[in-house]
Order: sequence, then structure tokens, then C-alpha cells
Amino acid sequence: MIRLHVRDELSGDGGLLLSPDQGRYLSQVMRRGPGDEVLVFNGRDGEWLARIAEAGKRGTRLDLVRRTRAQPPAGALVLVMALVKRTPLETAVAKAVELGVAEIRLAITERANADHTRIDRLETIAAEAAEQTGRLDIPAIRAPESLSRILEAGLDGARLVFCDEAGDAPPLLEALAGLPPGPLAVLIGPEGGFSPAERSALRSREGTIPVSLGPRILRADTAALVALALVQGALGDLRS
Ligand code: SAH
Repeated sequence: MIRLHVRDELSGDGGLLLSPDQGRYLSQVMRRGPGDEVLVFNGRDGEWLARIAEAGKRGTRLDLVRRTRAQPPAGALVLVMALVKRTPLETAVAKAVELGVAEIRLAITERANADHTRIDRLETIAAEAAEQTGRLDIPAIRAPESLSRILEAGLDGARLVFCDEAGDAPPLLEALAGLPPGPLAVLIGPEGGFSPAERSALRSREGTIPVSLGPRILRADTAALVALALVQGALGDLRS
């Protein structure tokens, strides 16, 4: 069944006009027409079964048939990702959504790439990844902020899993063993790594857990994927 992310409100009484792109996708790419059914979600109102009412020059209109799934509560895993080049940043965003993060924060660090970030593009990537995985919520992507500001603001009380490739941090699974349940954030540095000053600030910060992802230096996007999968496997929704 085709799943589409839409922006409009979804409620019992009413239909929905698709964007021209989605209309073309349905009729020309997927060859669907009036009477065919699709699933739609907007990240707020759960998932709905919808039927194509009209597909023509005036656009593609859907009738909402019934709600198929309720909106789940947002999860509590956050990715804090240093700004890296566009392609690995986009990969990291898509994979983080697939792996169930609730929010993505972009960090400006000393060695981060210049900020060419287009949040709207990252939001589209996040929405497409959510569409594909079947998850109903779409993680928020926050505009880039300095790492120090993110840390000062306290991450809403989440423990920070600091992926530290330089040195002596214990392996992630060992470091998180026995950790009480609670919100977690995973921090990934830029391709140039963290500066010595950033590392020592991170290491001395309360609530930060330095971890290693093994003996190989991973690219930032790979590191994000590995760290999130391990956290979800140790404490999160990959356990069951
Ligand atoms: N400083 C490195 C590259 C950094 S890799 C260099 O140029 O030599 C980008 C980010 O991925 C790091 O800042 C870290 O957060 C994460 N990372 C990569 N490999 C890792 C590993 N083996 N253990 C922990 N974190 C790792």
C-alpha cells in the first residue's frame, strides 16, 4: 500500500487535495486512479486510509475513509549531528529517521563544515524516510546551533552519548549497560573530529557518557547509523 506524507489536517469529515507532485506520483508513476486506496499521515493525526476521489486537471483529491492507526507518543532519542558535507548529512538524517530518532539537532562545532544547510530539504528527506518506514511521526529538524549552546541548554535532561573516536572511551554497549531508562541524545562529530577543547568540555560535563564505536574511525554518517542502532538495540525499540 502506498503511504503519503501530507501537510493538511486529517479528520473524519473531509477530503484532501494532494500537492501536484504527489498527484503526478500517484497517477503517472504508481498508475493509481479514482477508487484506489492509499494511506496518508501528517505526523500528528495518526494514519488514515484514503480513497482517490478524483485525479485530473483540477488536481488529485482523496476522501478519508477511516483512521487505521493512532498517533504514537514521540520517542525520546535525539541525534545531535555536527554539520558535515551535504551528502553524508542527508544520509545521516534519513538513517536516523529510519532508526527511530525523535529529533535531529545540527551542531556547529570548531571543525564543522560551513553552514549551507537547507532545513526544508532535510525535512523532505526526513518525511520520505518516515513514509518508507511506516512510522507516523516525523522527527523535527532544528536549525543549526553552536555545540556549546546545545550543551548549555541542557538537552532537556537527556543523557548525552558522546561518540569519541580519539582514545580511551569504553565501547558503547559496555558504557550503556545498566543505564536507567530515560531520554538519550547521541552526539556525532564532524569529519575533522572534535577539537581538544571541545573534547575536554564534553568529557567533564555531567550527564555525558563518552563511548567508542570500535577500533576503526568511521565516517560521520556511518558513525551516526552505528551508534543509533546500538543504542536502540541496547535500550530502545530494537530490543523487542
Ligand atoms: N577525527 C577523525 C574523524 C572524525 S569521524 C579524524 O579525522 O581522524 C566523525 C565523527 O564520527 C567523530 O567525531 C565521532 O563522533 C564519530 N566516530 C567515528 N568513528 C568513531 C569511533 N570509532 N568511535 C567513536 N566515535 C566515532
